[in-house]
Amino acid sequence: MEKVVIIGTGCAGLTAALYTARANLAPLVLTGKQPGGLLTTTSTVENFPGFPEGIDGYELMQRMQKQAERFGARVQFGVLEKVDLSGKPFVLTVDGETVQTQTLIIATGASHRHLGLESEHKLENKGVTFCATCDGALPMFRSQPLVVVGGGDSACEEALYLTRFGSVIHLVHRRESLRASRIMAERVLAHPKIKPHWDSVVTEVLDVKQDKVLGVRLKNVKTNAESVLDCAGLFVAIGHIPNTQLFQGTIHLDDNGYIIPKKGASTNVPGVFVAGDCADHVYRQAITAAGMGCAAAIEAERYLEALNQ
Ligand code: NAP
Repeated sequence: MEKVVIIGTGCAGLTAALYTARANLAPLVLTGKQPGGLLTTTSTVENFPGFPEGIDGYELMQRMQKQAERFGARVQFGVLEKVDLSGKPFVLTVDGETVQTQTLIIATGASHRHLGLESEHKLENKGVTFCATCDGALPMFRSQPLVVVGGGDSACEEALYLTRFGSVIHLVHRRESLRASRIMAERVLAHPKIKPHWDSVVTEVLDVKQDKVLGVRLKNVKTNAESVLDCAGLFVAIGHIPNTQLFQGTIHLDDNGYIIPKKGASTNVPGVFVAGDCADHVYRQAITAAGMGCAAAIEAERYLEALNQ
């Protein structure tokens, strides 16, 4: 019987692991399909406090894991297949094996929605990115034309952020009006550096042969006219998909599938706590996820203390 099982090894999961390990709870930490979480897919992380020169995302996650393991966290490669939260203890199925636990911390994160183009996949981290805050300031994007895809708040936020670095920001959206909140849309449309391209989709990222982004091929969905936009970077901001499918019907989720936290890091099921991007569609930063991981760990510790009194 486990005292604490943590699902996910992004910033939220590993911070929860560090705190519960230091509380002598020897947490079992399951990696999921992407050990280290989304941060391992970015290059340099420049906005995590404590690293004035920046730190490679993969290295940051390895360090977090090491730190948690130093105090007794057991990080294990494993994918959660099923959860039964209807009784106590909770019963998890992980790669076909049954795991029983008194508390559960869900830190499963969210995945970037992709366009689904082969060229997008091949040029990921070579000019194609899914996070302007993480990558926008990189030298390769400075004073260059950049393309942002999407019409929601994320795309607007990314486009506005990128105006600090790029020479011009092309905002490509598949419809003729933005889905974003009015204030964000107005800011974007009034910005002299942002050029919207309506009714347009990216059909190919150029140039796979040269192994870097040199432009995108666009198609106007109304006229079918094709064109090419030169750019040094493609920022895909077409939403996130919270990794919460397994908890549907048990844990309260909002309309977009994000877990609705109750009183900080708790959920509607006592003993189940939540941290990070699977419950946060607003900030989605490494440091906020780490903070939520800390809160979830403290809540789990208090819950166990009350249980064993
Ligand atoms: P979103 O609101 O779902 O917007 C996604 C955008 O991407 C939409 O414009 C959508 O087009 C487009 N899109 C989706 N799939 C596409 C595809 N395959 N090809 C091309 N375009 C595609 O997602 P989000 O912007 O990440 O926002 C998610 C939530 O977080 C929202 O509730 C948002 O308000 C919130 N948020 C808030 C802030 C803020 O307040 N500062 C910042 C970021 C996010 P359609 O419009 O045609 O559907």
